[in-house]
Amino acid sequence: MKRLAVLGSTGSIGVSTLEIVAEHPGQFQVVALTAGRNLALLEEQIARFRPDVVAVPDPENAQRLQERIGACATRVLYGTDGLIACVTDSHVDMVVSAIVGAAGLEPTLAAIEAGKDVALANKETLVIAGELVMAAVAKSGCQLFPVDSEHSAIFQSLEGHRKEDVRRLILTASGGPFRNWSLDDLQEVTPQDALAHPNWTMGRKITIDSATMMNKGLEVIEAHWLFDVPVDDIAVHIHPESIIHSMVEYIDGALIAQLGIPDMKTPIAYALTYPERLTLDLPALDLCRLSQLNFAVPDSQCFPCLGLAYDAIRRGGTTPAVLNAANELAVEAFLQEKIGFLDIPRIIAKVVAKHTNTVASSLEQILTADSWARQTAHDVIHEIEGVSYT
Ligand code: NAD
Ligand code: MG
Repeated sequence: MKRLAVLGSTGSIGVSTLEIVAEHPGQFQVVALTAGRNLALLEEQIARFRPDVVAVPDPENAQRLQERIGACATRVLYGTDGLIACVTDSHVDMVVSAIVGAAGLEPTLAAIEAGKDVALANKETLVIAGELVMAAVAKSGCQLFPVDSEHSAIFQSLEGHRKEDVRRLILTASGGPFRNWSLDDLQEVTPQDALAHPNWTMGRKITIDSATMMNKGLEVIEAHWLFDVPVDDIAVHIHPESIIHSMVEYIDGALIAQLGIPDMKTPIAYALTYPERLTLDLPALDLCRLSQLNFAVPDSQCFPCLGLAYDAIRRGGTTPAVLNAANELAVEAFLQEKIGFLDIPRIIAKVVAKHTNTVASSLEQILTADSWARQTAHDVIHEIEGVSYT
């Protein structure tokens, strides 16, 4: 019986994780759950999975939740301390890290430092603090399993092979809903257009990141840290069908790929039970019904976020944390219709250009850069708000 703490249990990954748990009675026990604002769903999850402890972001919501669940055995905590208490609980074997954004960093790092295995969906953790996090993994001896479908595919394609035989990693990207759009068309994009992803159902932030291709940029950085491969040996191919989830090219020219239907349950389950595989009730991939698989080079003019991410990780230090924070604020401003779609990369580039890069070897340095970037992005957004949105 594997005992789990699920961070972000009310989100897209969190809900899929709990569905897998429910479909496999006797295999998992849910010790801790944490959520942001969706108290009604968290309340249902508490009734269903009976965790020992839960955490929400603030004391007001903790009190409201406590009143809703009444006198039950589940303890309700709040804030970063509450999240950390959930992941470090002595009964937890594995932490599913599925909070969105930089808020996932501190509890994930705490879990690693406490020696808990981590199923990592929160890619922002490695983008912001890759060096620090990988050093903590090496020190604690815990295992870090990728949940992101591309990284799970690479993880699977590397198994049984020698690291020195790897020539490069190839991440696939659907290209999002605007793959063939012109710059003029992109000017007019609304949040509603951008939230309609062709292949995947995901949370709002990652869906916008997929539309700008920042998601792929964040994934390049994530892959660099997870697999210790230089960023210039990580390529991105547009693959609109989302059937090949990513691949590894070896020095003899062999390409090893992992294929499947686009459903996050497969990579989540593999991270939960590696090296075993769980039986999942998903439609099989019927290769004979696929008419074709297509590949293309990303359009760097229409989707500059990918290049911004490559530049940030090449620069290193605190720059990727700044890129990430500026992106989080720009995406939120776009969702609130304060800025246009093409303003997202403009804002990120402006904030990164203003940043004085420093080393990112402590949590404090990273959090300082993160808050500087949030304040600066806020100011930049304020300057352009209402000016360029049409
Ligand atoms: P989501 O928005 O659906 O869910 C996010 C979860 O985090 C929710 O439970 C929310 O309540 C919680 N949360 C948000 N802000 C919080 C805060 N400040 N403090 C505490 N909790 C907070 O997001 P998602 O799509 O499930 O994605 C989660 C993470 O997994 C992201 O980092 C994303 O990039 C990554 N990921 C998601 C997918 C996917 O298919 N959804 C695929 C690969 C990677
Ligand atoms: Mg992905």
